[in-house]
Amino acid sequence: MADKQVGKEKRLTIDELATFCKRKGFVYPNSEIYGGMSGFFDYGPLGVELKNGIKQEWWKSHVQQRADMVGMDGSIIAHPKVWEASGHVANFTDIMAKCGKCGNSARADHIIEDKAKVATAGLNAQQLGELLVKHKLKCARCGSDQLRIAQPFNLMFKTTIGPSEGSESVAYLRPETAQLIFANFRLVQENARMKLPFGIAQVGKAFRNEISPRDFLFRCREFEQMEIEYFVHPNKIGSCPYVAEFGDYELNVLTSDMQKKGSNDHKRMKVSEMLDKKTILPWHAYWLAFEHRWLTGLGAKAENLRIRQHVQTEKSHYATDTWDLEYDFPFGWKELEGIANRSDFDLQQHIKVSGKDLSYFDPETNTKIVPHVVAEPSLGVDRTFLVFLFDAYEYDVKRENVVLHIHPRLAPIKAAVFPLLSNKDELVAAAKKVYDELRQEFNCFYDENGSIGRRYARMDEAGTPYCITVDFDSLQKHDVTIRDRDSTQQKRVKIKELSSVLQQLLSGKKNFGEI
Ligand code: ATP
Repeated sequence: MADKQVGKEKRLTIDELATFCKRKGFVYPNSEIYGGMSGFFDYGPLGVELKNGIKQEWWKSHVQQRADMVGMDGSIIAHPKVWEASGHVANFTDIMAKCGKCGNSARADHIIEDKAKVATAGLNAQQLGELLVKHKLKCARCGSDQLRIAQPFNLMFKTTIGPSEGSESVAYLRPETAQLIFANFRLVQENARMKLPFGIAQVGKAFRNEISPRDFLFRCREFEQMEIEYFVHPNKIGSCPYVAEFGDYELNVLTSDMQKKGSNDHKRMKVSEMLDKKTILPWHAYWLAFEHRWLTGLGAKAENLRIRQHVQTEKSHYATDTWDLEYDFPFGWKELEGIANRSDFDLQQHIKVSGKDLSYFDPETNTKIVPHVVAEPSLGVDRTFLVFLFDAYEYDVKRENVVLHIHPRLAPIKAAVFPLLSNKDELVAAAKKVYDELRQEFNCFYDENGSIGRRYARMDEAGTPYCITVDFDSLQKHDVTIRDRDSTQQKRVKIKELSSVLQQLLSGKKNFGEI
């Protein structure tokens, strides 16, 4: 079994992770009984819990715990003018390479990066076409050398609204959540009485008709995003009151200058150093560090993360500067989160196209202004899901099974309850009582099948941080053993204290050694 070959030092491939996810019930290929649908996935019982956990943790730290943030939930289908104003109808395209012989199409940059191992960030259609020829790249399907650049392909999924099939009924599934934040900016700001600087956050589905979906959840056609538009007064974009908090915070950094000089190796830098060298604007640095801290705080490994600035030609049509938070995936450093400075591009566009006033009334100067989005942290839920799994996964040679060291706050099952023996009615009854009580508060699992060792192993693979066993002593002393997933240490805890002990462990108020 592929899982078994992976020790601490050797990382999983994306296919091995996909196999593991299916076997344990994290993620299934969509519609598999009908042959599957490329680019679509279904989350199973463990997967839905982990995914919900990620979204809840994100919302808590980005919205609930911040006075400068408020949330909204926009609709997936919006007026087509939204996507005209945003530039998506004209610009949301990928450059395709099409085979002149068999007609097979794929993303030109992907073919070049995979086969010629050449970085393609920022290259235009002509440059990509030249590389196809220079490296004599062949069609993956028929092997011909007639791969040529084709028309750009718009990634938005089209649909029709209502029974009419005329062009007036065409609409798009949103390719990002961001635009609904801009379209509702004025309403949200006024209703929530937000004062600049403030952010609007949204979590939800996005759809992109990717030319070549691949690498499991990394590039799918339906996915979720956790996005923020952070608005600042145009006169105050140069200073951020919160960035000092991160002065000594260190990040792996790859600037556009370093890339221009031909380097693809990042350098460790303090946030203060980046600011001193004017490599980045303070708000942008603040949000990159904030996001990095959130990810590492929940188990992502700092050595697998870096920030990379877009080179000039790579930036989207709306961005004045963009940094990607990248993760060292088994298939290379790739974008986990994009953080663009969108300036006032989107609000100005919606003002122009809709003719409506989306400005902000500044009470300090009694003037109307159009705020700037100094940072748009845009994080994919599904890519984050991959990161947390990759960094949690370990094949434990001693235990001879996989242990998923997922952060307790994200663990799909918080605690499992076992009777020591399944053929002793009194143990089963006592264990079920403990289970019934605990699951009112935590997502718990009851298991009486197989040896205790087997049951521990199943829960280690599911990432369950604590296993609780009811044994014969429990019947006399009203206590249970609680076993820690990571250390395999066991302690005895009174049943009446179990819930509060678990609460303390899961919230991080106490570690296992302290109970
Ligand atoms: P890429 O360059 O990898 O295509 P992008 O720059 O188009 O990504 P953004 O538009 O910045 O991506 O979207 C923000 C985030 O949404 C990404 O950082 C990623 O986490 C997620 N995301 C984007 N496209 C996909 C996809 N096809 N499948 C899964 N997640 C995605």
